[in-house]
Amino acid sequence: MSEADALPVHQTDSISEVSRPEAGPRRTTSLASRRSPLAVPRCQIATLDSVDLVRHPSAGDFDTALAASGVEPLTAGPVEIFQINLGKLCNMTCRHCHVDAGPDRWREVMDRETVDACLDALDRTEAHTVDLTGGAPELNPNFRYLVEECVARGKSVIDRCNLTVLLLPRHSDLPEWFAERGVEVVCSLPHFRRRNTDAQRGEGTFEKSVEALQRLNQAGYGQGDHDRVLTLMVNPVGAMLTGNQCSMEREWKRGLGRNHGVTFDRLIALNNMPIARFLEWLEGSGNLQAYMELLVNSYNPATVAGLMCRNTLSVSWDGRIFDCDFNQMLELESRVNGADGFHISEFDPAVFESRRVVTGRHCFGCAAGAGSSCGGAIHDTSE
Ligand code: SF4
Ligand code: SF4
Repeated sequence: MSEADALPVHQTDSISEVSRPEAGPRRTTSLASRRSPLAVPRCQIATLDSVDLVRHPSAGDFDTALAASGVEPLTAGPVEIFQINLGKLCNMTCRHCHVDAGPDRWREVMDRETVDACLDALDRTEAHTVDLTGGAPELNPNFRYLVEECVARGKSVIDRCNLTVLLLPRHSDLPEWFAERGVEVVCSLPHFRRRNTDAQRGEGTFEKSVEALQRLNQAGYGQGDHDRVLTLMVNPVGAMLTGNQCSMEREWKRGLGRNHGVTFDRLIALNNMPIARFLEWLEGSGNLQAYMELLVNSYNPATVAGLMCRNTLSVSWDGRIFDCDFNQMLELESRVNGADGFHISEFDPAVFESRRVVTGRHCFGCAAGAGSSCGGAIHDTSE
């Protein structure tokens, strides 16, 4: 019997669904499936630490940069956003993925027991928002149960959606299902032009994404209704910082509206994090040194107050606790009183509040330029 044969039927359904070639565009394969050294988080950290940044005043040390700009070390406040990463399973394998997600990551999917432990922990916080991410969170067999439970608790729910997953037969009713529950859909789409999007996410992604956006529009999303908010999330296609969020939103609204009749409510722009597959691409394309210099030279202390690790708790598919989704991918667990390795079932808000956030060189990705968080730019003063 194979490992997959031993799984519950609903999970084997998900695996066979996303393993078919038509399930999603494929830009690359996961680092894990290729047994790349960079599949190991400590190898990613070592690669970042090996970049020569000695000429910069902080020498590429994030905490030194904070101190030099008169900013206190990062500490977490009360949990406002409870972020749950439901697993690494995805129907796509985008080049820039910081999760190293893909169809082959079916072992790393949150089970029902851990989902329930998350709900118990959520009840111990004052968090107003539950932010569901992955992989493709919708592929987790417990996804709808979790959304229902969060909505019943009066929480705002965000689904971080890759769009193409909405075209899979078992998930094609999700636009209406989300609309009935007031779920905000945050969709990733690298560009409003086909060529740029397909370059990062795989041939045919753009066409599928536009079709999914049109379905969301038909369900009432993207038309200014507070209960049907459609947000587009954009990453640069290449080794550069993200552009100005306001002007991009205007440009994208024009481009998608005129050419495809698609409307959306707002656009958020994020820098690419130099970890996992984007790190592999930076290294392979000879851009790693220049990109890290760009991040470090663009450090902006005005972004620090808005960094997401200050008000977010991040839970991994196996229930471990992190300061953010990026630290989660680097296996840098939250530290409390000198210890780490906590499971969400042990979560006590009083103990975790005011903890010192675990940082590393990757943190410059959040604090460069206008800054970058799950909610987009942090300190955009250009318009
Ligand atoms: S970037 Fe998103 S859609 Fe692409 S492989 Fe990663 S999790 Fe999946
Ligand atoms: S990666 Fe960003 S959000 Fe995470 S700890 Fe560093 S600065 Fe905070």
